[in-house]
Amino acid sequence: MEVTREELQSPSMQQFIDDLIETKRYANGAGIAAPQVGVSKRIFIVEVENNPRYPYKPNAPLTVVVNPKITFLSDERFQNYEGCLSIPDLRGVLDRCPEIRIECQDRQGERMDFVVKGITAGTFQHEDDHLNGILFLDRVTDKHSFSTWSEFEERYQDDVRKSVEAIVARYGS
Ligand code: ZN
Repeated sequence: MEVTREELQSPSMQQFIDDLIETKRYANGAGIAAPQVGVSKRIFIVEVENNPRYPYKPNAPLTVVVNPKITFLSDERFQNYEGCLSIPDLRGVLDRCPEIRIECQDRQGERMDFVVKGITAGTFQHEDDHLNGILFLDRVTDKHSFSTWSEFEERYQDDVRKSVEAIVARYGS
């Protein structure tokens, strides 16, 4: 559900956003969306800072996104190896758009309009999907790519790190 400005500026909603940030940090997530903690509001958070869960991911500053509208700015797609706090011990490969525009509000209700590229764009799309009831595994086309975290670390992480480095070199994030 869309969040109204009054609702957003209420102390309880501000507290909820603080709690969401804390939950994300505690779980070492790259992002988290309100529906993941049982709240049907169009709010998500992205933040990557030397993340031990995703050591190959480029850093991204803390961004609180409210009522987003995402537009794809490229017809290209890159393959992203994703995991999710809501789906323990499963990872898989799916296509993401490498360049997106996000129109939304910040946690105070101020309008934001920005472009996100590369791996970080994949993270924003993953969190936005949560607002629409879509999980990453719904988008995995090659079921052979599903792996547990330990399989991922043993078999795929080195290759994924290389492909992530190539995407970061191309898109800058
Ligand atoms: Zn998720």
